[in-house]
Amino acid sequence: MSTLRFHAIKESLAYKPVKIEEVERRSEIFGKNVFNMKTMRQYLTKDAFVGVENAVQFGKKIDRNIADQVASSMKDWALAKGVTHYTHWFQPLTGATAEKHDAFFETVGDDLAIEQFGGSQLVQQEPDASSFPNGGIRNTFEARGYTAWDPTSPAFIYGTTLCIPTIFVAYTGEALDYKTPLLRALQAVDTAATAVCKYFDKNVKKVTSSLGWEQEYFLIDKTLAASRPDIMLTGRTLLGHTSAKGQQLDDHYFGSIPNRALNFMRELEKECMLLGIPVKTRHNEVAPNQFEVAPIFEEANLAVDHNSLLMDIMGRIASKHNFKVLFHEKPFAGVNGSGKHNNWSLSTDTGVNLLAPGKTPMSSLQFLTFFVNTIKAVHKHEALLRAVIASASNDHRLGANEAPPAIISVFIGEQLKKVLEELEGVTKGKLSPQEKTELKLNVVGKIPDVLLDNTDRNRTSPFAFTGNKFEFRAVGSMANCGNPMTVLNTIVAKQLKDFKKEVDALIDKKDLKKDEAVFNVLREYIKSTKDVLFEGNSYGEAWEAEAKKRGLSNSKSTPEALKASISKETVSLFKEMNVMSEIETKARYEIEVEAYVMHIQIESRVLADIARNNIVPTAVKYQNVLIENVKGLKEIFDKNFKNVAREQITLIEEISNHIEGINSNVTKMIDERRNANKLLEMDKRAEAYSKKVMPFFDEIRYHCDKLELLVDDEIWPLTKYRELLFTR
Ligand code: ADP
Ligand code: MG
Repeated sequence: MSTLRFHAIKESLAYKPVKIEEVERRSEIFGKNVFNMKTMRQYLTKDAFVGVENAVQFGKKIDRNIADQVASSMKDWALAKGVTHYTHWFQPLTGATAEKHDAFFETVGDDLAIEQFGGSQLVQQEPDASSFPNGGIRNTFEARGYTAWDPTSPAFIYGTTLCIPTIFVAYTGEALDYKTPLLRALQAVDTAATAVCKYFDKNVKKVTSSLGWEQEYFLIDKTLAASRPDIMLTGRTLLGHTSAKGQQLDDHYFGSIPNRALNFMRELEKECMLLGIPVKTRHNEVAPNQFEVAPIFEEANLAVDHNSLLMDIMGRIASKHNFKVLFHEKPFAGVNGSGKHNNWSLSTDTGVNLLAPGKTPMSSLQFLTFFVNTIKAVHKHEALLRAVIASASNDHRLGANEAPPAIISVFIGEQLKKVLEELEGVTKGKLSPQEKTELKLNVVGKIPDVLLDNTDRNRTSPFAFTGNKFEFRAVGSMANCGNPMTVLNTIVAKQLKDFKKEVDALIDKKDLKKDEAVFNVLREYIKSTKDVLFEGNSYGEAWEAEAKKRGLSNSKSTPEALKASISKETVSLFKEMNVMSEIETKARYEIEVEAYVMHIQIESRVLADIARNNIVPTAVKYQNVLIENVKGLKEIFDKNFKNVAREQITLIEEISNHIEGINSNVTKMIDERRNANKLLEMDKRAEAYSKKVMPFFDEIRYHCDKLELLVDDEIWPLTKYRELLFTR
């Protein structure tokens, strides 16, 4: 009997839900472990508080004296909560979060020790940066990096550590993390959007980008997961025959959340409350053992930090509940994948959501302006948006069951499409008073009503307008939202900047009124962006053909998709918007390409190992049982044995064929890997891994999965899909 698998199954069945102490009201513990504005008001002097407030709201620099005060108060607050260490918490380009803990504890003179934490330690640290990816930046420049305090995301306590959100940059200033370019992109969109808002409301001083992510994930029994080397090493199953019962019945989606999982969620939510992560929604997803958690949306930088933090604590809490969380976009073949919808909008400091139509025709025109400009930005940069969601793991999801395709298009619903069509007919140049009134009252003015009963949904769209926000649905569940948010905000910023230039030109040179100019520019945008709008089924082959005609890109693999992230246009876009220098843009590309190669390389090695060291020996073992059986039959039935042993003999042959299939394909795959590794240029190597190595995954898997159906269940070594997916 395959001991590990059966031992794991036995153990997994014995797990009981872990008891959770519920608090009386969650709202009472919300943000209790966060050094937020409310706490700061309590702990900081007035000067220090105003200093931080100015930094948060207007990006003003915090001087040394204020930093010292903040640090000292932060320390007092943390010590009172039993904290012993502090860390600069950051998001290097590995996809995980990083921290290096230092104790507050210091010795001063002989025998004397105190708790110390000064402004300099708060503001800047130098982690051992050599192990984080830098895309060659630190080979050409100074070989050091440092972390610097980001006051816009409040410090928090996790366990007994005070975590200070920071950016991570090279000594020469280049960004080495996700946060730095994001902060620059948010600045860019603030500047561009505020300028455009002034057409409609002079009082607007700041525009903030909001993000509400929806995190999908699988919860797999910890022991069962540990029995599968592929899950442990790659986050997904590289083989495994589909379970007889999968998600066909959709009974998981509508069913109640199983108890063990529910208790995990309750503890997770409680921890989120303490950390100020406003999680609100929990539910089952389409696949068995698949779930989703979503918060109330927040300012984008904070939301990105909260998502990274959530992913981190989910792993730890899951382990306490004897689960392993799988964030991989496609952990199981033939089963729904996981995404992370990024719900995005822009709002003003006067409290207006720029992607929600207002009550007056003027505010609806403002809505329309931001709505159409976003569509225009997506159209112009569709390839870059595809690039920013590209990863080895998301490649498996895009275009599969319940997931958007690799073609970026925008869904706005039939009603809004009609509104745009009407606007196409706006007269060129000056508008008659009648036309203006007609437009404002009967076209633009009607939008709020249109939206109210327009609950159109399209689950196949990668970028959908959903009433008062856009939902970027193609983002992978494993991704750091910082990346897609950086790109989205940057392209919209650039678009708004261009829009303003065009409108101003019409006002200055053609003597148009403000609203006339806006209508005129929007009309042209609507005409030129039709190709990116798609309301139909994005899964169909018809759409692939249609999208090609429309000139939309359709990059099926990461190496192909990533090319758009270093195109001339992209480099100059990031440069112009002060989001990334050419060096930074190119370094990121290098890192992503290399990550892709490593990812596929590891998967390929693990697959070869399992196939040769687990599957083949098991098949041989079972084949020997059959051979013994046939020999026995021959003894009993003598010449007539072939009749009685026909099935067994066929099985023996089939098993031999599959063993041969595995061995020859593994050999060929390893050869291709060797060839790929000889390629010195990383993008060539990535392409070789994608085109030459990866195709063997399916071949090898095919034979292994066939054997799973043939070989005695009692000796099959790998925990099966039905066990992984239906144990709860
Ligand atoms: P679903 O897409 O599953 O129907 P909802 O639309 O209710 O779910 O919300 C999904 C996410 O969108 C939540 O995190 C929610 O807070 C967020 N969201 C709602 N309104 C906005 C907005 N104006 N800007 C950004 N995110 C938003
Ligand atoms: Mg959604």
